[in-house]
Amino acid sequence: MAGKAAIVGGSVGGLFAAHALRNIGWEIAVYERAEGDLAARGAGLGTHQDLFEIMQRLGIAVDERTGIAVGSRVCLARSGDVLKEIPFQERKSSWATIWRALRRALPDDCFNQGKDFAALETGANGAVAHFADGTTVTADLLVGADGNRSTVRERLLPQVQPRYCGYVAWRALIPENGARLYDRYAFSMPDGGSAVSYPVPGRDGDIVPGRRSINFLWYHPASEAEVRDMSTDETGHCHGMAIPPPLIRKDVVANLLREAADQLPPQHLDLLRAEPQPFFQAIYDLECDRLAFGRAVLLGDAAFVARPHVGAGVTKAALDTHGLADALRAHGDDIASALASYERERLKIGKRMVARARRLGAFIEFHRSPDFKRPDTMQQADELLYEHGADIRSVAEFWA
Ligand SMILES: Cc1cc2nc3c(=O)[nH]c(=O)nc-3n(C[C@H](O)[C@H](O)[C@H](O)COP(=O)(O)OP(=O)(O)OC[C@H]3O[C@@H](n4cnc5c(N)ncnc54)[C@H](O)[C@@H]3O)c2cc1C
Repeated sequence: MAGKAAIVGGSVGGLFAAHALRNIGWEIAVYERAEGDLAARGAGLGTHQDLFEIMQRLGIAVDERTGIAVGSRVCLARSGDVLKEIPFQERKSSWATIWRALRRALPDDCFNQGKDFAALETGANGAVAHFADGTTVTADLLVGADGNRSTVRERLLPQVQPRYCGYVAWRALIPENGARLYDRYAFSMPDGGSAVSYPVPGRDGDIVPGRRSINFLWYHPASEAEVRDMSTDETGHCHGMAIPPPLIRKDVVANLLREAADQLPPQHLDLLRAEPQPFFQAIYDLECDRLAFGRAVLLGDAAFVARPHVGAGVTKAALDTHGLADALRAHGDDIASALASYERERLKIGKRMVARARRLGAFIEFHRSPDFKRPDTMQQADELLYEHGADIRSVAEFWA
């Protein structure tokens, strides 16, 4: 049965769901809380072959502009010398590039902005979504694709909350603007953390050297109290665990740059110094034990949040929606069985992904613990080069 789906969240997960369900004949509508151009958000992304294959299968244009090919990974010593290099074929992209491609391929009348989902009713025959503006929408299926702070999940599984992992990702997306910036896909090893840089399409999607951007990311330990202090603006107002980048205090950035001068190789230090507005995101884990509730389902970060070391949140959102569409197609009119099958399959994979990312981030999370055995330099370099963002092609075997 092809019915009507209401999709909450208009980021990559919501848009993949919209395309996947339309492709099997469903009528869809996306409800996104944010107003304005969402493509202005986001930073660089590691990708996986599955992501591009799903996009192509959905009829979304994928070409050389969708990502920048890199042929190897290097690990840098603090001196800037290359400790180790391995061949590695991958395309580096950006959230905006993927989102824009998905959005352009969706008719405007399917995409509703300024719609803040507030509550739902769900049962054997349908679901009703209630929005903060007082409107309601009735659907045969309600898809919760509203991210790691999902309100849909909050209503269905209030006991499941994101868990702070003890570190933040400091991020920068530096336009080349004609300058020669360091553009290798490179890891480095600051104290108790790791840093990575790679080239991605420029803000307007340009992939020509000199007009691209360089994505830089530093996983940096920080207690919850430290994050709250970093999230306190110049007026003394604390924004919780996340602060809008323009409000980050100057002394917080100055401290970061001081530490960077001690701990980063010159290539990474130069990138960070070239960014006028570095920003940070606190890193969380989240996993659910259920994904289907009557006629409502969770997917993407609303269902599982794996730490970004696996570089696969967007690919997982695409795979989730592909799994959902496959299950609906396979079960015909029996939507309950389709959703049960979706839940079974995606719970398994989501849990593996969270566990794998947790293992990769353990050396940052526990580096202050007296029992923690620090990996030696070459062991850590190997782990960064071979395991971070490694191929998820054969999810079942590789991530087991
Ligand atoms: C530091 C860092 C680095 C990362 N690096 C990578 C990487 O290299 N590769 C990769 O694949 N992934 C990466 N990720 C993860 C990736 O960004 C996420 O997995 C992905 O964005 C999840 O997509 P989503 O659509 O599920 O959720 P989100 O992108 O979080 O989108 C949720 C959407 O729902 C909307 N929304 C929220 N609440 C409501 C509501 N009540 N009503 C209506 N709409 C609502 C939001 O406005 C938003 O648009 C990284 C994440 C972090 C933090």
